[in-house]
This record gives sequence, C-alpha cells and structure tokens, in this order.
Amino acid sequence: MNLKKLQLLTEELLRYCSDVKSIPQEKMPTVNFVMDEVYSNDPFGKTGAYNPNTSEIYVFVPGRHYKDIMRSVAHEFVHHVQNLRGDFKDVGELGEGYAQKNKKMRKMEAEAYLEGNMMFRDWTDTRDPRSSLNESKKEKIDFDSRNLSLFNKLLKKWTKAKK
Ligand SMILES: [Zn+2]
Repeated sequence: MNLKKLQLLTEELLRYCSDVKSIPQEKMPTVNFVMDEVYSNDPFGKTGAYNPNTSEIYVFVPGRHYKDIMRSVAHEFVHHVQNLRGDFKDVGELGEGYAQKNKKMRKMEAEAYLEGNMMFRDWTDTRDPRSSLNESKKEKIDFDSRNLSLFNKLLKKWTKAKK
C-alpha cells in the first residue's frame, strides 16, 4: 500500500463527491486513515465510521485494497451529507444492531450504501484519463498541483483507533 497514492486518490474522490453533492469546501469532513491493525484480521471488524459531532470520517487501512478503502470513504461521506441535512438530530438509539432495529438509521444506511457505492463507481468510471495518478504517469505525481491545494487539509491525520 502506497499511502501517498491512497491520499491523493482519496482527495480526488472527495472532490468528485463534493461536486456531486454540492458540498462547499468549508463544509467538507475530515478523513482519518486509521492504521491500527486490530481489525484487519477480524472478518467482521470495523472498516469505517463517521462521527456526526465532529464531522470526521474514519477509515481503516491495513489489509485492504485501495478501492475497498475508498468505497468506505464514499459511504461515510454520504453519512456526512446526511449530517449536514440534519438527519442525525432525532436518530434515536445507536446501540448494537442499530442498522436492523432503528428504522431511521436503517434508511440512512441504505442510502449510504446505495449512494456511496454508486458515487464511487461513477468516479472510477469517469476519472480523467490524464490524471497524474494513472499508471502510465504515476512517476509524475505533482505534489504542488491542485491535488494538494484544495483538500490536503482534510486528510491531515494518520491515526490509531481509539482504545
Ligand atoms: Zn454506514
């Protein structure tokens, strides 16, 4: 896993998602890449999370494919859009099994799965073939390009999961 590449691709994805959902830059979430391996050997371990109080996305990195990690980012981004819409305000209990037991959360999960996955799919299908991250040009990644100028600050933390 090339972490710099993951970061640049995630920034590109977030730019795409912000366009699709018309989210201005100042309302974008922060993405935290969690490097803790504690979940990577658990088939049902966490892969991502969203904190509506801090507008932070957490995605777990070890043991996963680039696309899998970024699909998680797109999913959690939809939860952020829901948060901006005010959907988390009267959401009720978020205890174990909330996605099955809590009707509102179940709807919100369904939206995040559908919209997150489709947004991710559309992004992968419509990426600019001249992107500096394409295989043929991967040596030419330009770190002072617009890639970094807009969204770099969203991706500032490489962190461990909270115990
Ligand atoms: Zn979710």
